[in-house]
Amino acid sequence: MLIDSYDKAKLSPMMQQYIEIKKDYTDVIVFFRVGDFYEMFLDDALLASRELEITLTGKDAGVEERIPMCGVPFHSYEPYAFRLIEKGYKVAIVEQVEDPKQAKGIVKRDVIKIITPGTINIGEMDGKENNFIASVKEIGKEYIFAYTDVLTGESFLTLLVDLQEVTNELLNLRCHEVVVSSKFNKKAIDLWKNTYQIVVSFEDDKELPSYLQGLTENLDNEFECEAFAILINYILKTQRENLTHLKTVSRYDTNQYLRIDMHSKRNLEITETLRLNQKNGSLLYLLDKCHTAMGSRMLHKWLNHPLLNQDKINERLDYVEIFSNDFILRNDLAEALKTVYDLERIVGKISCGTCNAKDLVQLRKSLSNIPNIKDLLKNTNNEKLIKLSDEINPLEDLYNLLVEALVDNPPFVVKEGGMFIPSYNQTLEELYEIKNHSAEWLSQFEAREREATGIKNLKVGYNRIFGYYIEITKSNLENQVLEKYDRKQTLANAERFITPELKEFETKVLSASDRIVALEYELFVDLKQTCSTYIKSIQELADVISRIDCLLNFSNISLKNNYVRPTFNSNREVTIINGRHPVVETVLKTGYVANDVYINKFNTLLITGPNMSGKSTYMRMLALISIMAQVGCFVPADSANLPIFDQIFTRIGASDDLLGGSSTFMVEMQEANYALQNATKNSLILFDEIGRGTATFDGLALAQAIVEYVHEKIGCATLFSTHYHELVNLEDSLSRLKNVHVAAKEEQSRVVFLHKVLDGPIDKSYGINVAALAKLPKGVIARSKMILEALETENHAHNVSLDLFNFDVNEEEEIVQKSEVEKILEETDVDSLSPREALDLIYKLKAYVE
Ligand code: ADP
Repeated sequence: MLIDSYDKAKLSPMMQQYIEIKKDYTDVIVFFRVGDFYEMFLDDALLASRELEITLTGKDAGVEERIPMCGVPFHSYEPYAFRLIEKGYKVAIVEQVEDPKQAKGIVKRDVIKIITPGTINIGEMDGKENNFIASVKEIGKEYIFAYTDVLTGESFLTLLVDLQEVTNELLNLRCHEVVVSSKFNKKAIDLWKNTYQIVVSFEDDKELPSYLQGLTENLDNEFECEAFAILINYILKTQRENLTHLKTVSRYDTNQYLRIDMHSKRNLEITETLRLNQKNGSLLYLLDKCHTAMGSRMLHKWLNHPLLNQDKINERLDYVEIFSNDFILRNDLAEALKTVYDLERIVGKISCGTCNAKDLVQLRKSLSNIPNIKDLLKNTNNEKLIKLSDEINPLEDLYNLLVEALVDNPPFVVKEGGMFIPSYNQTLEELYEIKNHSAEWLSQFEAREREATGIKNLKVGYNRIFGYYIEITKSNLENQVLEKYDRKQTLANAERFITPELKEFETKVLSASDRIVALEYELFVDLKQTCSTYIKSIQELADVISRIDCLLNFSNISLKNNYVRPTFNSNREVTIINGRHPVVETVLKTGYVANDVYINKFNTLLITGPNMSGKSTYMRMLALISIMAQVGCFVPADSANLPIFDQIFTRIGASDDLLGGSSTFMVEMQEANYALQNATKNSLILFDEIGRGTATFDGLALAQAIVEYVHEKIGCATLFSTHYHELVNLEDSLSRLKNVHVAAKEEQSRVVFLHKVLDGPIDKSYGINVAALAKLPKGVIARSKMILEALETENHAHNVSLDLFNFDVNEEEEIVQKSEVEKILEETDVDSLSPREALDLIYKLKAYVE
């Protein structure tokens, strides 16, 4: 550590204070408040100046050399802190904690908050996503997994069977930080830290503070309470505020939801794309046109946890249908929702004490439209909508209070006044009255006093040294009434007086501005306190508004993209007519070929077809339609009758786990194994070209064994695409297996993809045609055609001359056309041609090579 190279005793008192504080925060970057800056010193300065690309300077600190320092302005520190957090650091904010005027010696400073990746809630965050922080507790062979969003206050807890599931969940929820006890499994910690860049923090305090003990009422046992407690205690230690907005933890069982493991979620691009890890291009991106950030977050949660309970699914679908049938209601609700701000986050800020008057004005604006939303639903006379409307509590008292209290455009800062409507508080009104109307008051006072004394030239004035006065010329000093005046100053030809009333006015005016600022701050603290008594009700309101937003969103999207309401059966049958992949069809815009899916007495579809023909799109389509249905959204098809799947497993595409150190083939086998171990007959398995990662015969053997296993032992709906043509014969031995293929045709040696899924196996593989489309060198294509021909005539590839340069291919020549030319020439009897025909032939041939 850099500090060890300095003589600590010689350091300035402020530096000593810094070092005293820093010693408890070795793994945290300390933002140390000095004047208008947060300064970083020593190692922190070196690190932060590098990470933030800000200038490194030096500070005189009592020792010979200047010590490294860099800083960021205190009023705009958030983007800097945010960048550090994004890179996986933590930041401690150190503030002056006593009034410098009262300080004896150096002003006391202390850490007021620690910002960490899992607890950050500053403005830069994308409000459409939750920022969850998790905790994990090992219990026997299982793990208790809890997570909380500090800002929205929601917490969840479940039991997971192994570390793989815990890691899945951490990644699914995009947790940036996980809290464990200091004795937790070191291997897991290393995996999360090094492979997945999740910050691991430690907390051993298992006792919740008494005011939060009620939060655990839904938990089953003391272990669950402990797992939750370490999470909350860690949050309390970093936030250093009372967190009254935290909601009772919801305990859920992963069996209540459609389970999709992390790899499958990624393969299916549900919340982010496979290649770039971007939201753009994912199912979530397509479906999320919510009007509020709360709605977007709820949609994200729904997509992470599709339902299994048919009644609950149908309840959502009912709402989507009702909204879909009422154009005016949809429009009116959309307009009203646009004015609703992020209530959950405002509540979080109220609870953490970070809210300002602008936040409360946003709360007021949001509340202003709630009665309208309630009425819109109620006036439909639809039983279900009325039920939804009854759930809405418009919190009129709170709204009225905020209307009375706050101006429309208050400042961001709460210590400068300007937030309140003067009439909100009598004293405040008087102070503003004084501040704004002092001249008016003075002239009224002057007139009153003139009348009372009868002295026409009585004058009220102000002097910086003596303050306000009443000036009477010498000639009028005999006036009896003047006895009630107190003499203040004598001039050559006049006397100046003061009265208790004028004195009081003076005190009021002079201090009015200061007092306004102080009083407004007090009133704001009170107002915040009052708002905090509404936290639970606002959260309930936020919940119902988010649901309305989500359901309305489903209905809008469904109408826009021609989705239909799915129906369900309990026979494990799938009948989808003209189904479409929701994302691919929007990307293609035109030319999407809809396909049917039938899974009935045949529950294993063996799909053959050339590369690029649409096999994996077809498989993904089935999974996405099922997920959308179980989330309660309409689906892209003309009709869809579906089972309720309990789990979806996929092995699609090459997803190398290079970070995790596994090869493509290893990942493939791990994912396949996961499916084979966990699938039930109510699951859906999608295996795309299993076995292609190894040698042909190994791959074929494995693929066949896996199909047989799934067919015989699991018996669930399975889509299995393959290159191994040999597998199509399985139809003869496996009674529930059916061959289907994605059609393609050859036109002038070119493969044309029809994207249509038809019964039966594909007749040929078209591999070389597809390679030609990829513009491989002509030499390679021609050579592979030769090899293929040899193979097809039962020769082995190595019997064909291996010298690539032995055969004559003009790289420039178009192979497809050359063969046409060759065919024509072959068929031509040159001797029988007339000169005219010969010329025509040359023209014809020439046309092929142009
Ligand atoms: P495969 O798995 O057979 O190699 P993909 O499913 O990856 O093929 O599809 C390749 C491309 O074909 C997709 O990116 C898409 O552009 C197009 N495609 C797939 N299915 C369809 C379809 N049903 N209609 C139109 N285009 C499709």
